[in-house]
Amino acid sequence: MPELRSKVTGAVLGCAVGDAMGAPFEGLWGDSIPTRDSLLDDYHLYDGYPSGQFTDDTQLTVATVESIVRLQGIDLYDIATRIAQLWHNHAVIGPGGACTHAAETFLITADWSTMGAPIGQAGNGTAMRTAVLGLWYRDRPEALAEEVADISRLTHQDPRSVAGGVAIAEAARLLSDDQFVFEPTSFCEAISARCWEIEKGFAQQIRDLSLIAESHDAVQQIAFAGQSNPEFDRPIITPYVVPTVLASLYCVIKHPDSWSDAVTTAIRLGGDVDTLGAIIGALSGARLGEEAIPKHLLANVQRSKALRLLAAKYHAAIANSA
Ligand SMILES: [Mg+2]
Repeated sequence: MPELRSKVTGAVLGCAVGDAMGAPFEGLWGDSIPTRDSLLDDYHLYDGYPSGQFTDDTQLTVATVESIVRLQGIDLYDIATRIAQLWHNHAVIGPGGACTHAAETFLITADWSTMGAPIGQAGNGTAMRTAVLGLWYRDRPEALAEEVADISRLTHQDPRSVAGGVAIAEAARLLSDDQFVFEPTSFCEAISARCWEIEKGFAQQIRDLSLIAESHDAVQQIAFAGQSNPEFDRPIITPYVVPTVLASLYCVIKHPDSWSDAVTTAIRLGGDVDTLGAIIGALSGARLGEEAIPKHLLANVQRSKALRLLAAKYHAAIANSA
């Protein structure tokens, strides 16, 4: 079993690597995305950016982890400040509407409690940045729901987005736990229970996922989940939080022991695939450790050394907090 340090590095760098693998293909249909082997061979060209460039998903994850490392705890004002700084510096790559709204609001008001985009905007901008947070709660699972919900609300007030942020953090916590014997039904039930009080309907969909994952049209059911009038008639994973979270958990359920299979399966679903790559790269890294991530992709992701240093500091903070 990988050491905690490897799992923390696997989660932080797995997020960046998966994000960078998916970024060139954001918005495309699955059938126009390269094969598994081609995705793993090297980073594909991402117009205007250096090879191995990750996007907002990793940038907001890093901003949050940097805050925890510096303050050795959760401080919502500091996290909000670091997130907003990305917009202030025009540094954010490929941001979503809700996060932009939140950051721009905070830059004017400096009030973290009201910056989140209003109910109705149920994007995946919460779940895209909460996987690595699961490791922070390894020894304090009871604190996860409330604190990750607060961090999620910085950008999204919609309860579906808040529940999605909590669900992905809980998934990472479970996957990193040596005591947790991975099995789809108990995995989905535990995640569902963790976000039940925030959004029961979404929590029920997560609970049902272990069954849906077995059906022949699982991807279709996941892609259209929570939508009475889907935007497309072919399955694709939109930036809506419900299918994003279900697709992320689905890829982990299908490929629990292969980082490469989990991440490339996700990217080949099509749609918001930088976000899927980031989430599943982090989840799978939290379970399998950095050894499971192809070495050349780890070495060649942008800011590889800085991310590794941040992961080491985050590991120390997690170990100190126990
Ligand atoms: Mg992105």
